[in-house]
This record gives sequence, C-alpha cells and structure tokens, in this order.
Amino acid sequence: MTLSNPWFIAAVVGVLGVFHLELVATFLNLAQFRHALPQRLKEIFPDETVLKAGEYASKSARLDLLRSTLSVAVLVAFWWVGGFGAIERWSSGWGWGEIKTGVGVIGVLLLVQNLLSLPFDAWDTFKIEAEYGFNRTTVGTFIADRVKGLLLTALLGGPLLALVLWFFQTQAHAVLYTWLTVAIFSIVMAWLSPRLLMPLFLKFQPLESGPLRETLLALAARLKFPVVDVSVVDGSRRSSKANAFLSGFGKNKRIALFDTLIEKHSTEELEAILAHEIGHHKCRHVPQQLVLGLLESGLMFYLLHQALQSKAFFQAFGVAGQHLGLGLVLFSIVYQPASLLLGMVTSALSRRHEFQADAFARSACGNKPLMTGLKKLSLDHLTHPNPHKLTVWLHYSHPPIGQRLAALEA
Ligand SMILES: [Zn+2]
Repeated sequence: MTLSNPWFIAAVVGVLGVFHLELVATFLNLAQFRHALPQRLKEIFPDETVLKAGEYASKSARLDLLRSTLSVAVLVAFWWVGGFGAIERWSSGWGWGEIKTGVGVIGVLLLVQNLLSLPFDAWDTFKIEAEYGFNRTTVGTFIADRVKGLLLTALLGGPLLALVLWFFQTQAHAVLYTWLTVAIFSIVMAWLSPRLLMPLFLKFQPLESGPLRETLLALAARLKFPVVDVSVVDGSRRSSKANAFLSGFGKNKRIALFDTLIEKHSTEELEAILAHEIGHHKCRHVPQQLVLGLLESGLMFYLLHQALQSKAFFQAFGVAGQHLGLGLVLFSIVYQPASLLLGMVTSALSRRHEFQADAFARSACGNKPLMTGLKKLSLDHLTHPNPHKLTVWLHYSHPPIGQRLAALEA
C-alpha cells in the first residue's frame, strides 16, 4: 500500500468522497424541514403531517448514517490489517481452480455482507416502519424473504458469475462477451421476473369482475393497449405502502395493482394511475432505460478489464497475485464514485420519464384524478414534501411531489 499507487489513491478518495457527499446530502435534506414550505405545498401538507414526515425522515437518516459509517469503518479496518491479502492466501489453500475459487470468495463475502446488514434491515422494518404504521411484515415473512433472496442469488447469479469469470480468464474479448451475456440475461429476467420470480414473494390474484375491472379494461382498450390480465397483489402482507406496476412485452401486457393501492384510492384515481403506467409503455421508457443500463454496464466492464490487468490495482489492496474473484470485489470498491455518477444520470432520465407519463395520464383522464391520487400517496407515505436538490439529484427516481403537481397544473 503506497501513496504512489494511483489505484490506492482513487480507492481511498472514492470511498471517503462518496461517504462525505452522502453525509452532506442527508444533512441538507433534513435541514429543509426547518424552512417554511412553498404556498402550494402548505395547502396540501398539514403542519402535523410535515412534523411527522420530518421525524420519520430523521429516524431513517440516522439509521442509514450508522449503517454507512460502520460499513466504511469495517472496510477501511479490514483493508488496513491486510484482510484482502489474507483472503487470497486462505482461498488459494482450497485448491479449487481460479473460477470456482472466485465464485466461492464472492459468495462468502456476499453472505457476510448480508449478515452484517441484517440487524439494520430488521431495525428499519420492525422499529421505524412499524412505529409509523407502515410495517405489516411478520418475522416469519421477513426471514423467508431473505432466505429466498439468497437462494435465488446463488441459483441465478452463481452460474452467471462463473461464466463471466471464465470469459475474463480465457477470452481476449472478455468485455464484449460479458456485456452481451449480461444484456441477454437482463432481457430474459425482465420477461421471467413477473412470471416466475415475483410470485415467489407475492400472491397474484385476478381482480374480481366489477366496476373497477371494467373501468380499467375500458381505459386500456380506449388507449389501444393490449392487456391480457389485471391482477391484485397482496402487498399488504409486507407494508401499507401502495404501488402499481405493469409488465409484459408485445401483446401480453399484465397489470398488477397492490391491494393497498385499491384500498385507499377511488376508481377515477386508479384509472389515472393506470393511465400513467400505460404512458410509460407508450413513450417507450422501458427500452430507453434498458439501453442506458447497457451503455453503463459496457463502460463498467471496460473499466473492470483495465483493473484486472493491472498488478498495481491488486497491490493497492494488499493482494499479491491477480485473483479474479477478489478482483471483482475490489473493483466494486473502486467503482463506487462512477456508480454514483451513473446512477444520477439514470435517475435524471427516470424523472423525465415520470413527467412524460404524468402528461400522458393528463391527456387521457384529465389532471384532477392523478393530482388527488399523488397527493394521497405523498401524505400516506410521509414523503419529504420539499426535498433538497442534492438529494433529488443523487437518489430520486421520481420528481418531488411539488414539481409533479405544478407540471400537471400547467
Ligand atoms: Zn411512473
């Protein structure tokens, strides 16, 4: 570990830089609660709701801060005492060959990371979310979800990871092959996930016939949107927070509404929310996001390739050889700032898409029902009425409520 190693400098500056940027963003965002709200928002958010939203935001922020401080501290300490070099020596004793060893090392580290995050996630769900009346998850469901998630990661991610490591070990054009494999994998998963994976976690039932089903199907027909199925999802088993989603390619669109959404909204509001979702499809937002994601992953694999070929990259973390599996883990540390920057680009595109989908819903159903629906969602979820710009740039996939309402009214 030497200060003349550019990888070492980049990694240290990156890890500490990202940590401090998030810290500043969190403080600025919480400080927003001390400023008076713009008039438009004052009319929507009663004082006691703003107060409660402020408490909720600060409790969540404190937990996130503790989580990120500890994870940076654990990382730096582990790095400092030569932990990565120790993993290299330990795993070379397995005698497994490079690819199997790589999958094993990544598997062990992911499992450790998962265990370390467990108490924070549990506190978030059973303490904070419960205190504000959002949590409906039982301990049994919480554990089952985690176990299922880990099994799926191992079953789907394990073979994919082995293939990627094999490309990097044997192929001159590893970047291209990895990129193509990940592209095909993401498209297949987008298709498979609502059919095979989501039903492992959520129960889908056809929406019973009645005025709501008729209204939604009539809207889809009016907008020339081929819907084959409208279902209700039992989101209420986990959280009182509501959601809606649409999936499907070509002529097989499926609409799924969370039961919590149906519980709280009028037929007109649900119609407008569906129109918004259909807007995403009509404006081709899904393929645009997919293309952007693929461009970003192409860049990432190119940089990964550069890192894996450099001895100095491994030396920056106290690793003597060029261990492929560890290389992927170490790269995820160096890559943090780039990942944050690219995430900002993705979120900016997503916020633009939200405005477009809102405009589509307005032309289909008028602006009233979507506006009342959005206001209800914001109040129910205790969202930050007036988030700071920096937090919006860093993390918001949806524009703040005030901006959406202003655009709908304009
Ligand atoms: Zn949307």
